[in-house]
Amino acid sequence: MASEVEKKAVFDIDSAKEVVQELRASFVAGKTKDYEWRRTQLKAMLKLMDENEPQIVAALRDDLSKPELESSIYEIAMLKNSCKLALKKMKHWMMPEKAKTSLATFPSSAEIVSEPLGVVLVISAWNYPFLLSLDPVIGAIAAGNAIVLKPSEISPATASLLAKLVANYMDSSCIKVVEGAVPETTALLEQKWDKIMYTGNGRIARIVMAAAAKHLTPVVLELGGKCPVIVDSGINLQVATRRIIAGKWGCNNGQACISPDYIITTKDYAVELVDSFKCELELFYGKNPLESKDLSRVVNSNHFARLLKLLDEDKVSSKIVYGGERDKSNLKIAPTVLLDVPQDSLIMNEEIFGPLLPIITIDKVEDSFDLITSGTKPLAAYMFTNNKKLKEKFVEKVSAGGLVINDTTVHLAEPTLPFGGVGDSGMGAYHGKFSFDTFSHKKAVLYRSFAGDAPLRYPPYTNGKLRLLKSLLGGSILGIIRALMGWSKA
Ligand code: NAD
Repeated sequence: MASEVEKKAVFDIDSAKEVVQELRASFVAGKTKDYEWRRTQLKAMLKLMDENEPQIVAALRDDLSKPELESSIYEIAMLKNSCKLALKKMKHWMMPEKAKTSLATFPSSAEIVSEPLGVVLVISAWNYPFLLSLDPVIGAIAAGNAIVLKPSEISPATASLLAKLVANYMDSSCIKVVEGAVPETTALLEQKWDKIMYTGNGRIARIVMAAAAKHLTPVVLELGGKCPVIVDSGINLQVATRRIIAGKWGCNNGQACISPDYIITTKDYAVELVDSFKCELELFYGKNPLESKDLSRVVNSNHFARLLKLLDEDKVSSKIVYGGERDKSNLKIAPTVLLDVPQDSLIMNEEIFGPLLPIITIDKVEDSFDLITSGTKPLAAYMFTNNKKLKEKFVEKVSAGGLVINDTTVHLAEPTLPFGGVGDSGMGAYHGKFSFDTFSHKKAVLYRSFAGDAPLRYPPYTNGKLRLLKSLLGGSILGIIRALMGWSKA
């Protein structure tokens, strides 16, 4: 089994300032702005993955006993796609965007120029430690920035591998990996950055944001929350159940920010739904899921204890309808379904982030919208229904980072959609071009010639000029003619 949280002194916290200075010097020298540099780095990242896939899979197995299939798809293939997309589209993304101009600046032309921000800090989380570390880095490279990446100390094998591979494959005068825990991250956060992207929980996000505020540094916060799943009746229940299972236990055993956190269904439909879970879960993970090789383990003993605290609350443990077994020595908890847990239980008031799935029942499926909106805004919300009106209501009423109808988690794989939270689930977004935009400043550039120098803006400010200005602002052609001709309205 992998090591518990390791606090390795691999980074001298006194050198944080020098690290940023070195990267800033590279940025100021224009190294990272060069298109060829960006291309070379993205190609190097692809090579890094192509040549080290077994090592990456092994590190993820060490940190989380993540099944190879999940590592290959959700950590490596997704990252490769992201890299390839940036390589294909980056030139286009970098091109200035023409903007329309109006009478206010006539004659003129305008464009929006995407310029890199400078030196950025990426702080990532442990649950998808490879993807969540390098995916933001792809956007930051494509946009032309220098980067420090601070992976999570809770997945130490992946963090060490990342540090080694990035140093070996990429330009270390512009991209650095800093390993470490709280002291190292604190030292980094004291420096002045041009953007900080943090992935993790809301408590630390507040520390990150407070540190960033001292330097007026903008932040992207990729956080979590309780992602609800509404299950309506009259659906293809087997497909729905399988897609919920894939998004919950098939995503790092529920340790994913967009994994279903709880289900809402009607009292009438709950028994059928529970039966469907029992049937499909047994089919997927066998009679003894603690032995299954297709489930990640809980990341460490702290999180194991946290999850058991949620599960073993008296008013909750009595509601288990499937699962509940645990194996402390291997940090495994079986897929667990609970029916009708009380709303005031811990499990319904904290992000679960593990293999427990409570089902809440209501009278009418429409009641689920108020239930969701009475809480904080989730990172994702899901609904299974064939009812067109309910789909429309869901989209209209539920505010979340993203919504999926009739599936779970798959919006993550669509780079044409922004990925990010709202309210307590975060701010800012990335993926595809959104990553490039997140790490760019959109610079407004207006071009004028010396012709058409209207006297209107210069003193003396006569009544005629004032009338003309008001007409121009009012936009009425007749008013403009009137003002030009000196006619009064009366
Ligand atoms: P974590 O413990 O790995 O922490 C994230 C980062 O914060 C790490 O790099 C860690 O070193 C740093 N950190 C910890 N304490 C700190 C401190 N006091 N000061 C500065 N930095 C500190 O990860 P976690 O928070 O347990 O991650 C799980 C949470 O992240 C869940 O809420 C989950 O929903 C969320 N998450 C969100 C996304 C997303 O894309 N929105 C993805 C994954 C996880």
